[in-house]
Amino acid sequence: MAGSGVSGETSDRDQILCKVEDTPLCPQCAGSTLLLAQFPHSWRNGRSEDVSGVKEAVLCPGCHHGEPAADELIALFAVDDRLGPENVEVFGGLVAAWVESVRHRAVDDEVLTAEFELWKQGEL
Ligand SMILES: [Zn+2]
Repeated sequence: MAGSGVSGETSDRDQILCKVEDTPLCPQCAGSTLLLAQFPHSWRNGRSEDVSGVKEAVLCPGCHHGEPAADELIALFAVDDRLGPENVEVFGGLVAAWVESVRHRAVDDEVLTAEFELWKQGEL
């Protein structure tokens, strides 16, 4: 891998923090997770104001199995118990792809929740 560098590739959009040790239990199945990712996230609240914050997502081999982006990451963990310099770039790319899929799913959830709240209030 000649001439490869990891610096200079970051942008505000890609500020993803990953943790692979002491990850929390899965909120869905209470099983152990492989990865905790923290990423910037912004959304519109009920008053059409932009709100930004940080979201967290865990990668659970049980619950997320079957999602293409998650499957690739789970496969990487299965092959490599330890992440080393030789696969850290692959890992970073897979994490970015996975976070992107999680981000869209999280936004969808919030839109659905907001619509449900409106529906409960009789505004839909
Ligand atoms: Zn789970």
